[in-house]
Amino acid sequence: MPASPETRSFPMRGLLPSAFTLLLALTMAACAAPQPADGVKPPPMSDPLPATVLPAPATPPRHGAVAGLPDLDRSCRIDADCAVKNVGNCCGYYPACVNRSAEPDPKAVQAACARSGVAGVCGFREIQACACVASRCEPAPSDALPLRAAAVRRSDPMSLPARVDLRLPDWVPDAIDRERTYPADADKVALAITLAARNIDEGTGGPFGAVLFGPDQRVVAAGVNVVLPQSTSLAHAENMAYMLAQQALGRARINLDEAGNPCGPYTLATSAQPCCQCYGATVWAGVDRLLIGARADDVQALTEFDEGPLPEDWTGELARRGIEVVRDVERERARAVLAAYGRGGGRSY
Ligand SMILES: [Zn+2]
Repeated sequence: MPASPETRSFPMRGLLPSAFTLLLALTMAACAAPQPADGVKPPPMSDPLPATVLPAPATPPRHGAVAGLPDLDRSCRIDADCAVKNVGNCCGYYPACVNRSAEPDPKAVQAACARSGVAGVCGFREIQACACVASRCEPAPSDALPLRAAAVRRSDPMSLPARVDLRLPDWVPDAIDRERTYPADADKVALAITLAARNIDEGTGGPFGAVLFGPDQRVVAAGVNVVLPQSTSLAHAENMAYMLAQQALGRARINLDEAGNPCGPYTLATSAQPCCQCYGATVWAGVDRLLIGARADDVQALTEFDEGPLPEDWTGELARRGIEVVRDVERERARAVLAAYGRGGGRSY
């Protein structure tokens, strides 16, 4: 998919919170990640996809500020009365300390925001624990750093940026069955296309999806375009899938084990042909196969995304590096998603 393309347009409604730390190390593939030495069982494949979080600053609208919604019960007598729950805000996921019996309705919050035309790119801080402070549930002292402080720290001109946090939209992990196998190329690409379509519907990024599959034909990691919500031009679907897989597996070359031996095949399925940026990433990511839905010509004909320049013999260059390229897999279905996006007039940027 697109280079500056994925960087281009998409509706600004319901943008997501930012940030994710490629943390969870799931490993299910052949060249599996190092096994726990103490006999601890590794997480099952049904565990969440790597997709996770870190604080990402900003000033999210407060839950109570959304017109027409009741305030949640934050009362308490002791710490145990409190719990961290996703209360939602105009940006999406938003954790807060509330009474354990409170029943937040993030979707209602989002709907209220949509009705009032409120949306934005926001951040949040993860909350590790809550405490009962003056009869009100509040983040525990270790988490008490106000959101503002995170934002200030990030924008402090004297502070050298030294960390990258990226995050997939909250809906992605739930959209993928980690137990399922996808032996057929068409099914692999179909999943990537489904993610692309959902990313449009959710308003969480551009019309691109990618999924990385392991030797067991199961999903290792997935990605969608989150360039705008994450303020990162690199955050194309393929790059997100590569980075998440690499972090989850604990190695920079996905298909080489710790001893440097091949342990694939690993396959990246993408809804659209990689842009010049994702093409470059593909050269070194460590995949054995690249399955592509729509062509770059489709992307540029149906949307305003710019794919950027590729080597004339780009498939040959990959083949010489041991990467098999299969094009036009579920192409019409992939084109339909792009066409829908084009018709929807997603904003260009
Ligand atoms: Zn790209």
